[in-house]
Amino acid sequence: MLQLLVVNLHEPAQAPARGGAAYKPSRFNHFHTLLTGEKLAFNSLSGGLAVLDSEGWARYTALVKGEPLDPKNPVDQGLVEGRFIVPENFDELAYLKTLHLRQRYTTEAWSLTICPTIDCNFGCDYCFQRHRVSRMTEAVQAKLLEVFAQKAPRLSKFFVTWFGGEPTLAWDVVQRLSQGPHL
Ligand code: SF4
Repeated sequence: MLQLLVVNLHEPAQAPARGGAAYKPSRFNHFHTLLTGEKLAFNSLSGGLAVLDSEGWARYTALVKGEPLDPKNPVDQGLVEGRFIVPENFDELAYLKTLHLRQRYTTEAWSLTICPTIDCNFGCDYCFQRHRVSRMTEAVQAKLLEVFAQKAPRLSKFFVTWFGGEPTLAWDVVQRLSQGPHL
């Protein structure tokens, strides 16, 4: 059995599952064996997250060894839907490059990383930053909102990643910017 927990596809699967067609494993698969013995499967391209029991895992390994797909089998359907297996002739790197270029040059979507402060009250061993008490100035906030107001009419998607430091140390800046410009 395969329990498909999450699929966060950038777009619908490119082709319906075809019976008898040859499939290969996605190069973006990651598997982790749980304490129960089940496999936790994650596909870093599709965002697919699934749990496979021994039967589901056996089915996955059979398919990637060349056994034909059975579109009526729910395990096979889930593996295709999560893109854990992809058609033999599907070029995942070309697909990823297309997604990247489309996202990079589109004027309809904007993805912004905002750093309200580079201060941080944690002390992670792996941190590469030097922290100091700081916060985004009023002038920079105003400029950011001005640029957003110019772009907003053409946007259909807008994504924000709050970055730091620890962004919640400048919570008022997060709240102020989240209100957006008064269009
Ligand atoms: S900035 Fe991030 S990685 Fe660095 S100490 Fe703070 S929480 Fe940890």
